[in-house]
Formats: sequence, C-alpha cells, structure tokens
Amino acid sequence: MGKLDGRSALVTGGSRGIGRAIVLRCAQEGADVAINYASNEDAAREVSEEVAKLGRKAEIYQADVSDQATCEQMCEKAIDDFSGIDILVNNAGIGSSAVNRPTISESTIAQWQLLLGANLWGPIHMCRALVPHMREAERSDVIMISSVAAQSMGARMGTYSVGKAGMEALAHTLAQEERSNGMRVNIVAPGLVDTDMGRKLISLLTGNDDMRLRDADAPFGFVCTPDDIAASVVHLCSEDGRYITNQRITVSGG
Ligand code: NAP
Repeated sequence: MGKLDGRSALVTGGSRGIGRAIVLRCAQEGADVAINYASNEDAAREVSEEVAKLGRKAEIYQADVSDQATCEQMCEKAIDDFSGIDILVNNAGIGSSAVNRPTISESTIAQWQLLLGANLWGPIHMCRALVPHMREAERSDVIMISSVAAQSMGARMGTYSVGKAGMEALAHTLAQEERSNGMRVNIVAPGLVDTDMGRKLISLLTGNDDMRLRDADAPFGFVCTPDDIAASVVHLCSEDGRYITNQRITVSGG
C-alpha cells in the first residue's frame, strides 16, 4: 500500500530536477500525476513514461506558470483528466543565475518580471485556479518549493529571494484561510540541490559545474539530491503529515 494511494497530484515544473523527483516519488506512493513543464516536452514525456511503468496515470501539460490564462486552462484540463486534483506542488522556478545574479540597482524590470513571473505569480495563479476545486476533497495539500534564499537574503539574489519570500507569505496565509476546508499548506525549502539549476549556480560562482567537487564541503559529505526534497514532500502529503500545516521544512543539511 502506498502513502498516497487514491490521490492525484499536479506538479509544476515536473519535467526536470526536483519536480521530476517529486512526480516519481508521488507515483511510487500510489498517486496519479499531472506533469507541468515550460518547454522541454521530451523530458516531460520521459517522466510520464516512468510514471506509467509504475502503474500510475500521468498526463503532461505545457504551460508557462507566469501566465494566468494558461494556468487556468491547464488546471481545468487536469481536473477533468484526473476527476479532481488534491495535491498541488508549486515547484516550477527560475534561478537568479538565469539573469546573471544582478544586484538590486543593476537589475532590470524585465529580469524582475521573468523571475517574479515564474517564482511568485506562478504559485498565485495556480492557487487561485486550483484551491476552490481542491476544497471538494476531504483532505488536500499544497506544497511550495521555496529556498533557503528566502531567509538568507544574500547579495545578488534579490530577484530570486523576493519571489520566494512572497511565495512563503502566500503559503502561510493560505494555510490559515483553508484549514477549515481540510487543506494542509506547507513550504519545503531546499539549500543547494544537484539539478540543472544548482549546477548553473555553482558554475557561475566557481567556474565549474561538477557537483561532485562540492560533495566534500557539503553537509554529510554529499550535495542534496532531488529525491531528498521529494521525500519531504511525500511525508507532508501522506497520512503521516496529516497534523502538519503552515510549516516551513528546511532541507539543507542544517
Ligand atoms: P531546474 O532543474 O532548472 O528545473 C526547473 C523546472 O521548472 C523544469 O521542469 C522547467 O520546465 C520548469 N519551469 C521553469 N520555468 C517555468 C515556467 N515559467 N512555467 C512552467 N514550468 C517552468 O530547477 P530545480 O533545481 O529542479 O528547481 C525546482 C524548484 O526548486 C525551483 O522552484 C527552485 O527555485 C527550487 N530550488 C532549487 C534549488 C537548487 O539548488 N536546485 C535550491 C533551492 C530551491 P522545462 O523542463 O520545460 O524547462
């Protein structure tokens, strides 16, 4: 018996990295999964085939989460395809490296719009579109994949940290508004994780994207894997997490 038997999850940015690991963990634990991606259809299709091999239903949905109308169309289609969604994982995101880590004074409005579009407006659009439907389930879960950056507020991370801090405010507010509807809302905040985004960041900082060179300096002797993040997500959404809401779980090795 899986920890998520009978559940249906929508994971934004499920085609690669942390989102991919969350999709596969959810499916391993018995959930059907709606997989959102931005542009990498081959990767999304590969993940959906892995889900099918696990005996679970998967559908893929191309949608830029920064676009309200596109999010609404995707959510309507997913609700229809899966006869309801009761887990939303707001995972899709863009790192500060994508805009070359500008300082606040160097940053352009276009850079802010790109990062806040995916990292803050995305979760807002997804919650507005899905939460009213998710109330129909006896239990539902919203997970926000934030970052330690929302607390450390490091230099040259502003375009990213501001969005993640906003996403966390969204989670804390939603948790209180929807508790009486059976909805649990929690934040999972990773440190550095071995993904395309993580490699791009260390490449910019050190000139080398080989994550294995970072292992010796990482807590416990290895850089966090996407599956370490997915494990926390499944725990929160499972029966084991039924009394946990409005919390921030930092998965960074301390
Ligand atoms: P990644 O390897 O770069 O993968 C990003 C995923 O998000 C891909 O599936 C991508 O789709 C999707 N995506 C990007 N922009 C999108 C948009 N506008 N609309 C829809 N989908 C979009 O990133 P990751 O490292 O797995 O990061 C996942 C989440 O964890 C992000 O929110 C990130 O901020 C957070 N995080 C990561 C780290 C880290 O070190 N990696 C640390 C802390 C927090 P395509 O495949 O179609 O491009």
